[in-house]
Amino acid sequence: MALPVAPSVLVSGAGPTGCVAALALVASGWRVVLHDPAPASALAQRARAYALTQSTRCLLQSLGLWEGLLPHLQPFQRLLLSDHACGAAEVLFSDGDAAIGWVLDHRPLMDLLLRRCASADGLQLLLGDPERPSQPTDLQVHCEGAGSRARDALGIGYPGWDYRQGCLTCQVQLVGATPATAWEVFRPEGPLAVLPLGGGRAQVVWSGPITACQHRQGLGETAFLEALAAALPPGLLASQLLEPPASFPVACRLAGRLARGRALLCGESGHRCHPVGGQGLNLCWRDVAVLWQEAAAVAAGARPIEALPRRYARRRWVDALLTLAATDLLIRLFSNRSLPLLPLRRLGLGALALSAPLRRLALAAASRGPVPLGSLPGGLDSGSPRGEQSPLFRRA
Ligand SMILES: Cc1cc2nc3c(=O)[nH]c(=O)nc-3n(C[C@H](O)[C@H](O)[C@H](O)COP(=O)(O)OP(=O)(O)OC[C@H]3O[C@@H](n4cnc5c(N)ncnc54)[C@H](O)[C@@H]3O)c2cc1C
Repeated sequence: MALPVAPSVLVSGAGPTGCVAALALVASGWRVVLHDPAPASALAQRARAYALTQSTRCLLQSLGLWEGLLPHLQPFQRLLLSDHACGAAEVLFSDGDAAIGWVLDHRPLMDLLLRRCASADGLQLLLGDPERPSQPTDLQVHCEGAGSRARDALGIGYPGWDYRQGCLTCQVQLVGATPATAWEVFRPEGPLAVLPLGGGRAQVVWSGPITACQHRQGLGETAFLEALAAALPPGLLASQLLEPPASFPVACRLAGRLARGRALLCGESGHRCHPVGGQGLNLCWRDVAVLWQEAAAVAAGARPIEALPRRYARRRWVDALLTLAATDLLIRLFSNRSLPLLPLRRLGLGALALSAPLRRLALAAASRGPVPLGSLPGGLDSGSPRGEQSPLFRRA
């Protein structure tokens, strides 16, 4: 039986995690206040593009957001993985004609999310105000990113380490690219990903020593494109820089706990991983998927509110830990020139290249997450290979 009064929640932080969390909570019948000290223009302006996975597609579809994003989504059907130090070692991931991922620019994503948040019944959007709203709520969901002050105020540590690598991102015009293909190249200084954006444009996510990232960021266009040419997979050439490169430090961090009392940490407030494999935002949104399931159960009167943060934290830490461990292992294994590691790398990539079931398994883990999430309140099952309706929902 549904609760007589809708439960209330403060979502602090209106980045991609906070906005989607607010929309999921309001869809479950909660009264939501979404607050961010940054104004809408600053929230939408960040220069980034995300590689989205199947778990993300299911979440956004279930929330009715996918359709609105379709004109801006660039699907890719092939992912070509290669190891610079292993010469010919290459692995091609694909699922026939089906998309295995989508690339999406930050701006259209945030434009849509902020529009939906502004117009959703039961959602109060407070942007550009440095003061946190003071009204008491039944639950606090902190989506404040890696520098979360609320996490510190809750006395929750954020242990982990900074990589010696930074990550430089930019958009370029590409020549020689096979359509609908993404590339991940392991290079001794760090991985480099090339993500298609359509019309021959691509997002480059180029990891390397922080000093090298800063140096490259300061190069003029011609010198930058020359440096990039040496790092791109064979056959690819960047002919034009479409936006100035930006770089940011990368880290591996996991909060000591994901909930305390009536508060919980969602997205990068709770964890941060290396961009290799494009897991970051997808992992954040898997937090939202579980929060949505738990919030729907509370709103339906199936569970007390007090149980929500504890259940959320219990269900989220394994996925976060495994994803962080997997990305960290890739960096330790592949971002070096260590001769003793070369045979191991050749063996791993060779096994993947030869074994279709192994490739399917690796793709499924990267695309749906290492832990099945089950059926979402909207009826899609993000654990099924292409996000079909869950059997549970079909029966209903
Ligand atoms: C410079 C940079 C470039 C990146 N580029 C890419 C990329 O190209 N591709 C990719 O996949 N990933 C990229 N990432 C990572 C990606 O941005 C994160 O995975 C993603 O933004 C996490 O979303 P989030 O909503 O959890 O956190 P954030 O996006 O960090 O959002 C947190 C929000 O909380 C707000 N906030 C902070 N403090 C408070 C407070 N006290 N109260 C209320 N609100 C608060 C902030 O204003 C912000 O809007 C990049 C990260 C950075 C830093």
